Amino acid sequence: MKAHSEKYWTEIETWPRERIKELQNLRFLEKIKNPIPWYQNFWREHDVNLDDIQSIDDITKLPLTPKALVKETQQIDKPYGMWNYETNLSRTGTTSGSTGNPLLIPYTKEAYHNSLEGGARGLWASGIRGTDIVHGIQSFNTILGVYFLHDICEQWFGSMVVPAGSIHPLERLAMINFYNVNVVMGTPTTLIKLGEMAKTKSINLSVEKLVTTGEPGPICNPSCVDELKELWGAKTVGDLIGTQEAGGCFAFQCEYGSPHANEDMAHFEVIDGKLYMTPLLYLTAQLFRYEVGDHIVSIDDHDCECGRTLKILNGYEGHMKHGTPIKYSNF
Ligand SMILES: [Zn+2]
Repeated sequence: MKAHSEKYWTEIETWPRERIKELQNLRFLEKIKNPIPWYQNFWREHDVNLDDIQSIDDITKLPLTPKALVKETQQIDKPYGMWNYETNLSRTGTTSGSTGNPLLIPYTKEAYHNSLEGGARGLWASGIRGTDIVHGIQSFNTILGVYFLHDICEQWFGSMVVPAGSIHPLERLAMINFYNVNVVMGTPTTLIKLGEMAKTKSINLSVEKLVTTGEPGPICNPSCVDELKELWGAKTVGDLIGTQEAGGCFAFQCEYGSPHANEDMAHFEVIDGKLYMTPLLYLTAQLFRYEVGDHIVSIDDHDCECGRTLKILNGYEGHMKHGTPIKYSNF
């Protein structure tokens, strides 16, 4: 994989808005042509006539898909519920379960590949490059965030990654310094805890770039940036927002601090202050108008100094209280 330019991972990030909308529309019409059996039944029950869906602007004619309903299908039809249709799976993952029981997410090779694209844009915007040495603090468990990170950095950017799994925090700190790791990615909570431990033990850290994800970070809580920089000796802190069931990283912070939504990869709606998404790239976990549930005010299309034309999340707060650790934050 190759970046479009030194500044942008993909050219789409700077396309004119009409062109982005056109691609969104094409991908939507392609997706709705062949819905999975569960959606065929769901829409029949809601008297949806697919002939009425002529463009992505008609998406509001489809019913919303509540998160609880998706979870319910997995209790009835194990293991993948509504996604138990015939396909060649290559990997499984789960959500963090921060809002209840985790959802099981199936992946084909192509679906997994598509789930890396949003993260690649965010990591590239965070300044991660092929010359970097990268470590993800979170463990290799059923939540695939750290796998995404490693695969993007190693396979797509050409960086060197340093895997560690679950090790003692002091061993992790020693390893970071031993390998001259200059990029560390983790939840803000784990990064702060580990940074504080280094400070207490008088371990000097000089990690040039940090990237947060998995819980509310700089996008929701800009005040954590100075603390993170001070603890780690870092120059930059990037932030990625994602959810596995809707295709991985769906928004990322640019170098001017704006959280841009990967609009060509998903259709976004804000209803009663909550985020709903329709992923538009092929994913095994197919969803339409899915209740992500994160709190947000609006998604705006004002200009950003970074040159990206992707819309900007306004008033995004995530689904947890600031700083609440995710269930599997393995420190
Ligand atoms: Zn920007």
